[in-house]
Amino acid sequence: MRNLQDLKELLSSPKKIVITTHHKPDADALGSSLALWGYLRKKKHEVKVITPTDYPTFLNWMNGNDEVIIFNKGNEALSQKLVDEADVVFCLDFSALSRINELGEIIRKASAKKVLIDHHLEPEDFADINFSDTGAAATAVLIYKIIIGMGDREHLDTCIGECIYAGIMTDTGSFRHPSTNKEVHLIIAELINLAVDISKIHRLIYDNNTETRLKFLGYALLNKLVVIPEYYTSYIAISAAELNKFDSQTGDTEGLVNYALSLETVVMAAVIIEREDAVKISFRSKGEFSVNEFARKHFEGGGHRNAAGGKSSLSLEETVKKFKEVLPLYKEELNQHYKAEKLIC
Ligand code: 5GP
Ligand code: MN
Repeated sequence: MRNLQDLKELLSSPKKIVITTHHKPDADALGSSLALWGYLRKKKHEVKVITPTDYPTFLNWMNGNDEVIIFNKGNEALSQKLVDEADVVFCLDFSALSRINELGEIIRKASAKKVLIDHHLEPEDFADINFSDTGAAATAVLIYKIIIGMGDREHLDTCIGECIYAGIMTDTGSFRHPSTNKEVHLIIAELINLAVDISKIHRLIYDNNTETRLKFLGYALLNKLVVIPEYYTSYIAISAAELNKFDSQTGDTEGLVNYALSLETVVMAAVIIEREDAVKISFRSKGEFSVNEFARKHFEGGGHRNAAGGKSSLSLEETVKKFKEVLPLYKEELNQHYKAEKLIC
């Protein structure tokens, strides 16, 4: 592969490297970043991980977490300096520089070689070396394959394996999304071989609720879940005041949308949240219905076919109204997908 050859040449002598990933990193974003960080350090490069924002505390166990630089936590000048001085910037788990806020423009202007490693749909063309594979189950899969492709299997270790495992486990919805192919399971077998404690990682990520988070989940499901049967759609809208009332922390609303999707009659689910800067929406779907297209078309977003996100500069109420107003355009499609979901064999 040309891109692997280019990467080998680029990294053939020690380099100053910055790794970055998307806004509010999830386990794949942070896991692939820290796996790559662990690997490149072993290759004697000088490596820093910069995230645009903070991330959920249930990811803090990852090796290298203590060295992550969070851009918007007073590290703007330091980040600018590191990016300006870098020979190489790796962009992981996002497909457009707009996804990393102000850091995006700093990276766009930097003289460093840019390497994109990602699996989101419709990637922006900004990188010098591109490992964009929209069929990959997780960016962590691509990190694993790049390490192997570089001929460095012996550099894989338990710590790197744990980060890769977390990325694959979460982005495949614990190995149930359609992206979970044979290759994914073969990689996991190799990670188990590296003594990765898969059961513990599952617990660290999923069995990690605070009491208030669990009560918030109960509140949202009891009081805020709305089902629209004719469009096979459900949504939960949460105001800033409600987040405040439950002392919501980064990551506390993650997974909420999956409950809304788990209804038998639902093909598309949305969680609409009033954040400080804008109203943020998480979309999920079953089967062939593409929330990537839905988010892209109506809510300045994107992602994957079955998991996408978007935003709106309208108020929370107006965003909900807009969401409900566009649903009739998809009535037939949603109906067909609902019927198709019932067919197997
Ligand atoms: P989540 O709903 O978990 O925040 O995001 C689901 C998927 O959609 C993730 O792969 C995420 O990277 C992507 N995504 C979330 N928000 C946005 C957005 O505003 N724009 C784009 N292009 N992708 C997004
Ligand atoms: Mn991902």
